[in-house]
Amino acid sequence: MAALHVRTDAAVTKARPNDEPVALTPPMTPPTLDAALPPVTTSAQPIPENYVEHILKTTKALPPITLSTLYREINWLSLGILTVSPALAIYGLRTTHLSRQTTIWSIVYYFITGLGITAGYHRLWSHRCYNASKPLEWFLALAGAGAVQGSIRWWSRGHRAHHRYTDTELDPYSAHKGLLWSHIGWLVLLPRRKPGVADVSDLSRNPIVMWQNRNYRSLFLLMGFIFPTLVAGLGWGDWWGGFFFAGAARLCFVHHSTFCINSLAHWIGETPFDDKHTPRDHFLTALVTIGEGYHNFHHEFPSDYRNAIKWFQYDPTKWFIKACQLVGLASQLKKFPDNEIKKGQLTMELKKMREIQDKIVWPSSSNDLPVVSWESFQEQARHRPLIVVAGFIHDVSSFVDEHPGGRHLLSKNFGKDATVPFFGGVYDHSNAAHNLLAMMRVGVLRGGLEIESEKAIPPSQRLKVVRAEEMFMTPESSGVDEPDA
Ligand SMILES: [Zn+2]
Ligand SMILES: [Zn+2]
Repeated sequence: MAALHVRTDAAVTKARPNDEPVALTPPMTPPTLDAALPPVTTSAQPIPENYVEHILKTTKALPPITLSTLYREINWLSLGILTVSPALAIYGLRTTHLSRQTTIWSIVYYFITGLGITAGYHRLWSHRCYNASKPLEWFLALAGAGAVQGSIRWWSRGHRAHHRYTDTELDPYSAHKGLLWSHIGWLVLLPRRKPGVADVSDLSRNPIVMWQNRNYRSLFLLMGFIFPTLVAGLGWGDWWGGFFFAGAARLCFVHHSTFCINSLAHWIGETPFDDKHTPRDHFLTALVTIGEGYHNFHHEFPSDYRNAIKWFQYDPTKWFIKACQLVGLASQLKKFPDNEIKKGQLTMELKKMREIQDKIVWPSSSNDLPVVSWESFQEQARHRPLIVVAGFIHDVSSFVDEHPGGRHLLSKNFGKDATVPFFGGVYDHSNAAHNLLAMMRVGVLRGGLEIESEKAIPPSQRLKVVRAEEMFMTPESSGVDEPDA
């Protein structure tokens, strides 16, 4: 595999005065020391062909969960939070009046805590898509705690494994295990395997992340329930409304909004950038996830601060990060080069085109047709309506009465080379006419193709989608017609 090419030619060496050190472009990343990284392999420990398969072979999974072991395999803390909050919300709806102020506050706090996850846990800490100032980091760390989804460090570690081992057994919420598993199952049941290794050494060095990690249990109670209750209680006297709606009900929505990124965003929608894995782009998923629903783009270009690249697509998290940049709270917003994004898009478009191309019936190529001498052609043309155009012999019997220019124009060319009349001598035929004519090929005139090679290729075959492996195959083995020449 070609990895890194360093130019060593004389021209480059001569152009450098005073033996300046050669700067490699892009600069090489200094090595990081971290225990969470996979062990450095030496010649005694060769790199496995496939890391995931290697780990699955060499480590044991826990036995599958059965009905009799179920109670031991439940994450009771997760299950508690995920059932108590909707139960409280339903109880609140039945017992407490929902005021206008509390409704507005619940929605606002939904977005605040949701952004704590999407702009904070996800795009800032899991993917380092931008740099956040300290005030913004504090805000996101507290807001994210209010979403009650674990600490930044725990969340990001799992999410980095999700990206690194997408759809495999080492992906903590692999979409291949079903919609329910990727949505919530992985949270309430203890995993059968540890998620694959993922480096979070940068987060371990971040004092705000580590502070949140140490104080997480009190922070989630404070930001998840106490703070929204205090705002509604002190603000407009609605203590119970604050607790039930801005606390519990809002938390339910934030939970399932985030869970939809792991379930729905790997399930419904299009794959405009790549279809190697399950992530998909869909407006509906974006709508319920504060803009994280353009998940196909995100998995392809995870360090991009955007999930939606078009201005009209719904990505409030992107707008929030951009707004933070405008007021000086965020910087270094990363964007993947447009050129590379377009490559992915083009590949997917070409795949679709290739599918259409494969469903179309194409003319016989010169390789599949008999080569006929001029004399033989003339002899056979006495019994069949044969015409030569651009070196190919065509039997026009099925078309002779359909010819828009009339039967006569065709029949007077039987047994003749009609290349010149066809290409403008009498009438400059349309591309469609040329494509149709090619379908009537029955033979190749000996020596004819070399003379008129350009005109021998029907317009519909001048541009084609060809797979790389087919480029190195003979036309017979590839099954794809080469341009006739
Ligand atoms: Zn994903
Ligand atoms: Zn991600």
